[in-house]
Amino acid sequence: MKFALVEGIRQEATTGVRGACPVCGSPTLAKCGIKRLHHWAHVSTAVCDRWWEPETEWHRAWKNLFPTEWQEIHHRALDGEVHIADVKTASGTVIEFQHSAITPQERGSREAFYDPMIWIVDGTRLKRDLSSFREEITTCAPSAVTKTRGWVLSDRASAIIERWRGGSRPLFLDFGDAEFPLSWLPATGVLWLLHYLPRQRVVVTPVLRQSVVDHLLSGTPIQGFARPMPIPPRRSPLPGFQAHLMRPRARRPRF
Ligand SMILES: [Zn+2]
Repeated sequence: MKFALVEGIRQEATTGVRGACPVCGSPTLAKCGIKRLHHWAHVSTAVCDRWWEPETEWHRAWKNLFPTEWQEIHHRALDGEVHIADVKTASGTVIEFQHSAITPQERGSREAFYDPMIWIVDGTRLKRDLSSFREEITTCAPSAVTKTRGWVLSDRASAIIERWRGGSRPLFLDFGDAEFPLSWLPATGVLWLLHYLPRQRVVVTPVLRQSVVDHLLSGTPIQGFARPMPIPPRRSPLPGFQAHLMRPRARRPRF
């Protein structure tokens, strides 16, 4: 965890300090080594939130885009179950940053526990995820029915799409600055929004990463990429005489 309570105040880990877990109240130790990110760990091996995963740089960098008072917010369900949300925005949306593998069952429980929520998924954990995703995107024609440039695909279209199939919340895939050979797509600053639909389909829409952050910070719209304007079919110019024949005849004047 990034935060623990030290004399009742939320603090980041500093060497030699002991704190208390803000969720279960048990003692925590500051871990400030050089290998892992500075964090707090329970003194006992018990992990109070079974959903918690060790944080990666990717995790921490994402979390730090948001105010500290939005980070690591604990939630208690009516049955007493407690979990720590990575970020909870001012409007109440929970953001879960997911690096590790997750079973469909666990994903389902989190989606049921947090409402509303979105996922931001580290797409770089497995190398083959990017290659199969990129291949699918670049070999399939973009869809004509999405508002901005996007694809409607089978929810088994690529490995990472298939692993998250059945999800009910918006999911943003973060492939970092991986390149996609699409002339209209910027080389950096893109996330891939996945919206799973009924009947085994998914809508895949590239969006500007900064617009997603801004949206979560202040509610401004998420920006995708405009489709090109359809080119009107060119009329074949008629030769002069044919054009003359095509002209509506002048009416005879009536008296
Ligand atoms: Zn705890």
